[in-house]
Formats: sequence, structure tokens, C-alpha cells
Amino acid sequence: MSMSTVGVIGAGVMGKDVALTCAANGYDVILCDSDADVLASAPQRMRRLLRQYRMMSPAVAEWPTDEVLGRVSRTAEPADLAGADWIVENIVEDPEAKRKLYLRLREICGETARIAVNTSCVPITRIASLLPAPHQVIGMHFMNPVPLIDGVEVIRGEHTSDATVKAAEEFAASLGKRPIVVNDMPGFVSNRLSHLFMNEAAFLVQDGVAAPEQVDDVFKLGYGHRMGPLETADLIGLDTVVKSLAVLHDEFQDPKFRCCPLLKKMVDAGFLGRKSGRGFYDYTTSAASAR
Ligand code: NAD
Repeated sequence: MSMSTVGVIGAGVMGKDVALTCAANGYDVILCDSDADVLASAPQRMRRLLRQYRMMSPAVAEWPTDEVLGRVSRTAEPADLAGADWIVENIVEDPEAKRKLYLRLREICGETARIAVNTSCVPITRIASLLPAPHQVIGMHFMNPVPLIDGVEVIRGEHTSDATVKAAEEFAASLGKRPIVVNDMPGFVSNRLSHLFMNEAAFLVQDGVAAPEQVDDVFKLGYGHRMGPLETADLIGLDTVVKSLAVLHDEFQDPKFRCCPLLKKMVDAGFLGRKSGRGFYDYTTSAASAR
């Protein structure tokens, strides 16, 4: 294993993007997922993502596709990540699933690996406490789509050492990202805010106040945001939004984070947003997917 190996756990929406971004910036990447189908289709899906991102960013257009994909190897076995310099964890936003994974990582990664937790809302301090070297654990909340976004929210847990904060800032910079360091609290800055407005936007649609296009246009044309809240929710994945709201509701015990029933209904119906082809918008037609 080279001195610059990154283990990326979870090959879903975020894991694939993180793997691509690390590989494009010279790291050898080991991509780990427990789902054999996700793992099998990852190279093809990453190639498709790269094709999309190339059209949206001149910087990504310079990435040599075959070389980048060639730096990503795959495994279903977390033990294969032993010895990686950084592990970036991006598994499903389910506190119990994360707890089980970290108890396994506890046996595997010893005291040398630095661990970057890419969660939307789960507190970093609680995760760090499961590991033998909690000072080496830090939150790195990458934003979707990772290759196109300049910032990364870096979350200092209660045990995180200054050396780990510095290493995370250097790691972010090596990926071409500007780190924004904040303290640990469920949802950090980004998701504590964004889940309130995405949830309330869903309530507006549910209450018949406006259609998704109008809600999003108010944000885009009125406030100058690049994307509206419902387009953002579709991009994240409505299942992940619902899970994140559940974590925020549970952690703060505050009814302001109660999940809009329409979001739950859409998830029950399989309308997960971009990743399933339909959410608040339909992505199966070319006009819609260009939004
Ligand atoms: P996703 O549902 O698209 O992917 C999760 C992946 O984790 C799946 O492929 C699943 O098979 C895999 N997985 C589940 N349990 C596993 C285990 N024990 N070991 C290995 N793999 C396992 O989710 P996502 O949108 O990629 O989100 C991943 C994490 O990143 C979540 O914590 C989420 O809150 C966070 N996040 C998401 C976004 C976003 O925009 N989607 C942005 C920032 C952070």
C-alpha cells in the first residue's frame, strides 16, 4: 500500500464522488461497499458521473478518465483498508449501521489511520468514542456533487486533536477544497440549516401553497441561490433526507425537525430523487435531467 492510500467506505451517492475526487488528485483509492451489486456497478457508474461532471466543470474536463478510474480498486471487506492513511466513511445515514461498522473498524484500523466521517447529522464525538484513537477521528462533510463543490465542512469532535484538524485541512486542500472548520453538534452548520428549509419546502408542496418549481424558483430567482431546496433534496436523495431529519429530531428532541409526511410517502413510493429517476422532479426525460 502506498503512502497515499485512501479507503472510501460506502459506494453510494457520496462514496463514488469522494473516490473519484481522491483518485483525480493522485491518491490510490480502495472503495468498499457491503452490497455486491453496488460494488460491481461502481466503475461504470463512476464513468457516467465523470462524463456528466466534465460538461459542467473545465477543471474536471482535464481529469484523465481511464487513469482516474484505474486508481480505484474495490472490496467488500473492510479489513482490506488496514494501512490506509485516511479512511473516509460514507455509509448509509443510519446511526446503528454506522455504530456496527465502527466497532468493526476498531479491530482493523488500529491507532494510525485518520478517519474522516462523512455523515449528514450523526455526532462525530459519539463515533470517535467507538475507536481506539478518537483524537484521529474528524468529520469531513463533503458536499454533493463532490468534484464540483469548492468547500468541505470539517467538524472537530470533542477528542479531535489539533494535529488531526491540520491533517484534515491539508487533505481537503490536496483535493482542491477549502475547509471550513466548525464544532461538533448534530447536523453541524450545513445540515442543521438545510434540512429545515428542505423539510419546510416539502410542507409547502404538501399544503398546496406552491408546486416544486415555484418553491425552487423563489430561492433561485428571488434569493440568487444556485439550486432550490427541492432540487437539492432530490440531489441528496429523499431517503437520506428523511433519515437525517430523524437523527436531528432524535438528537435535539425538538419538533422543528419533525419530518414532513409527504417526504416519507415519497420514499415509501420509491421516489428517492435523482438516484431513482423521480422525486419532486422527473429525471427520466432529458429536459428534467438538465435542471
Ligand atoms: P447512499 O444510500 O447513496 O449510499 C450508502 C452506501 O453505503 C450504499 O451503497 C450501501 O450499500 C453502503 N453501505 C451500507 N452499510 C454498509 C456497511 N456496513 N459497509 C459498507 N457499505 C455499506 O447514501 P449517500 O447519499 O452516499 O450518503 C452516505 C453518507 O454521506 C450518509 O451518512 C449521508 O448522510 C452522508 N452525506 C450525504 C450527502 C448527499 O448529498 N447524499 C451529502 C453529504 C453527506
